[in-house]
Amino acid sequence: MSQATTFQVQDGQLIGARQVPSPNFNQRPADTEIQLVVIHNISLPPSQFGGGYIEQFFQNQLDWSVHPYFQTIEGMEVSTHLLILRTGEVLQFVNFNDRAWHAGRSTYLAQKECNDYSIGIELEGSDDLPFEPVQYDVLTQVVACLQQVYPKIQQHIAGHSDIAPGRKTDPGPFFEWNAFRQQLHHFKNK
Ligand SMILES: [Zn+2]
Repeated sequence: MSQATTFQVQDGQLIGARQVPSPNFNQRPADTEIQLVVIHNISLPPSQFGGGYIEQFFQNQLDWSVHPYFQTIEGMEVSTHLLILRTGEVLQFVNFNDRAWHAGRSTYLAQKECNDYSIGIELEGSDDLPFEPVQYDVLTQVVACLQQVYPKIQQHIAGHSDIAPGRKTDPGPFFEWNAFRQQLHHFKNK
């Protein structure tokens, strides 16, 4: 691990992330404890990186005419709490205390509507390409930080494909679950 931990949570904000507010959120149901992290991948256009289109998309500011693919998602209003770019930079779109719109129809351990009680983390990536090592490093640091603040998450990290099987495939076959879990374990026990 080359970087020191610099992340902390204050009032639902991740200190160390660039704040990029999205209008796409609402309140979590009353008395809902955060108990799950959902890992996703996204790239716009698919399997192309950089360009700033993902953050424009989550801010409802994407110019749909820029690329033919964008027309297939025109008007969609979605968000995530965090996005980890290929460079390792972390962006926060929605406060953790609020409900981001990342999971859609979903079920985790027989509990529906994962958006109600989860934190969504998007990795800039695709189902076709490996993620960057720095993305695993940063994901590890961020999840370790979140687990301290929201202890239920310690037992509950899932992929979008786990909570919406048949409908979603991300984070995809290139996401190295075992390596990530090992890295997280080592990071927390160092
Ligand atoms: Zn997803």
